[in-house]
Parts: sequence; C-alpha cells; structure tokens
Amino acid sequence: MQIQAPKGTKDVLPQDSYKWQYVEGKIRELCRLYGISEIRTPVIEHTELFLRGVGDTTDIVQKEMYTFKDKGDRSITLKPEGTAGVVRAFLENRLFNETMPQKMFYLNAPVFRYEKPQAGRLREHHQFGVEIFGAASYETDAELMLLALNLLKELGLEDLELKINSIGCEKCRKEYNKALYDYLKGHIDSMCRTCQGRFERNPMRIIDCKEEHCKEICKGAPRTIDFLCDDCRAHFEGLKRCLDACGVKYEVDTDIVRGLDYYTRTVFEIVSNNVGAQGTVCGGGRYNNLVEELGGQPLPAVGFGLGLERLLLVMENTKAIFPDPPRIKVCFAAVGDEPKLRAFSLVQQLRENGVSAEFDHMDRSMKAQFKYANKLEAEYTVVIGEDELRDGSAKVKNMADGIETMVMLDEIVDFFTE
Ligand SMILES: [Zn+2]
Ligand SMILES: [Zn+2]
Repeated sequence: MQIQAPKGTKDVLPQDSYKWQYVEGKIRELCRLYGISEIRTPVIEHTELFLRGVGDTTDIVQKEMYTFKDKGDRSITLKPEGTAGVVRAFLENRLFNETMPQKMFYLNAPVFRYEKPQAGRLREHHQFGVEIFGAASYETDAELMLLALNLLKELGLEDLELKINSIGCEKCRKEYNKALYDYLKGHIDSMCRTCQGRFERNPMRIIDCKEEHCKEICKGAPRTIDFLCDDCRAHFEGLKRCLDACGVKYEVDTDIVRGLDYYTRTVFEIVSNNVGAQGTVCGGGRYNNLVEELGGQPLPAVGFGLGLERLLLVMENTKAIFPDPPRIKVCFAAVGDEPKLRAFSLVQQLRENGVSAEFDHMDRSMKAQFKYANKLEAEYTVVIGEDELRDGSAKVKNMADGIETMVMLDEIVDFFTE
C-alpha cells in the first residue's frame, strides 16, 4: 500500500516552489530595509518552554501541541508558534548584552499544531515572524504594523484591514479581570467546558472562545480598552498618532485579545476579506513580560507572525501577480553518440558560465527532443547532428521568434554569455 503524507501536511512541489521563493525573497528584501536580521531556531524545544512561554490556559498548550518523550525520557514539543523559541535563543545566547533594540526575523519556520485542518491552516504550517527586543516605544509597534502592511501590499494584496487593540498591562489587567469575572459569573454555567476551566485562572482567554454560545455571551462583556491605566492609554494613543502620521488606515477592534498569554498592551491583526471563513493573515502584539517569564531580566518586546500557506492562499484567491516560473535558457537537441557527447560538454560549460542549460536525458528522437524543449519553455534550442558536428557548427533557434542562426560550436558559450 502506498504511504500518504500525515493529515494536515502538504508538499510544495518543484513546479510550485518558485511562488514560495518569490514571497521569501520579498520578505528578505523588506527585512533588510527595516534593519532586521534572520534568526533560525530548532524545530523542537523542551515542552516546559511553551507551558511557561505560551501559557498553560491557552488552546495551543491545552489541545494542540505535538508533545512526546524522546529516548532520554525528556518531554519534547514541536514548536507550536515562533516567539517562545526566539526568546529562549535570545536569553541563552545573551543577546541582551548587545545594543538595543535587537531586531530579528524568522522565515519559513515550521510550526505544528494538532487542530482541524482548514483553508491555509495546516497541522504543519510555516511562518514568517519578526521580534524586536528592548524597545518599549509605540513607534516600534507601529513599525511592525507598517512592515507587515508593506509586505502584503508589495505582494499585491488589497482589501486588507488593520485592526488594533490594547489589552493593558499587568496593572490594569487586574481591574479588568475583576470586571470580566463579575460579568461572566452569571453566565459561566452555560458556557463550554474550556471556558469553565479558564474562568478562575484566566478569564480573558474566554473572549477568544470560538463556540457560538460563548461568543454570544462575550458580546456584552467588558472591554480591556475601558480599563487601561494612564501609561497604557498614552501608549495606545501614541501608536494611533504614529499610524495616522503615516496615513495608515486602521480600526480599533476591542474583540482582539489574541490567543496567547504573553501579550501586553498592543495587539493587532491584519485581516483579508479574501481567505474565506477565517481571514486573519497576520497577528501580533507586544509582550513585555515574556522575557522575564522565561527567566530573563524584564525586557519589553514586540512581534508578529504571518502564516505563509495562508498568505499564498490569499494571493492565489486575489489573483495577485506571481512572477513567471524560472525557465531554462538553452536546451540542446542532439542525436548520435558524438553529437550527444559534444552537447553534454557544452551544457556543462554553459552552466559553469552562469547560463541555465539542459540536454536530453531520455534518448529521445530529434522530434521528441524539440517537444521537450518546448515543454521546458526554453528560450533557445541548439541542434547538433552528425552534419553539424562535421562542420563544427550548430543551429541555434530562438524559440520566441523562430529565427535560426548558425553558430560555431567553439563560440556557443560566448554566444550565450555575451
Ligand atoms: Zn496598564
Ligand atoms: Zn467557550
């Protein structure tokens, strides 16, 4: 029986990978403009990192992690999100001793969550994320939103909405949690089991519940924005001024609390109206307590993550323009031992000189080799038969206009490199 890929995973095939590379190229270019360097962290981490870093009352930790014992009896987890591993690396490598802020991105990082696969959201999916450590300013929050928006715009996406909210700090969160607790008290018995489990320890998570009935109840719940302390309010106002100054449209959406425990103050999402059921393409926020939570000195930080599968899906749905797939420049057609040998060595010479070239690996007839060159959409075909070999020349055909040129075999490489 044929073995299939695990549910919720997807292959990127050779004929499609150029789309990924295109998006990755844009991301790298944009990060360079924003002065952000790449960090790469392992796919596996100690489970403890996510219990502490993501929060043990979150859906991710309670329901969705791929956790297993390794042969040394350690509890290991496949990364369910990108930030905790980066913070762990930041601390372990003492990057806090470097000049602040420390700005870093990860790209194409696989993230694993055991959940019901949905459009653009697989059990193994890939993320682009940015984390900025050491800066508490609202300008930093705004900078990240601009980066994400610019990327999506660069990629040809339209119909995007930036939604922002502030969920306060530990100081004002206490007040809020009390108000929320009081509000939910009368309803909690009718709510789902997950919500009931969170009620005592972390009522704010309940706002994130996706059950219809719970959502209905949460509509009347108090909002974090009404409980902000003076500092948090000033931060939020500053952020809005920054976005206004750059002409960025946004909406304050008090429903956004993000599904992770570590956020403080700013949270944001970028929503596309083109993905289908769940339209968030990018989400992030400030996490001023996470570094300390994971054993470091208190240090403000802010970041976002963006799912690449979902981004590509939105791009396909919105007919965003991808560049043409890469094409072979020169395809050789040769029949007979000597001509084939000459073609083979010319292909190598061209490649060594930076020209993409291909030859017939399949012992095809001349006619079939032409078909193959067409299939590859080669820009040129070079025909070498016994006659050509005797004359020391070859017929070079420009496939776009059909014009044929005789070129000396000794000059083929020059012909294509000049
Ligand atoms: Zn506050
Ligand atoms: Zn619920």
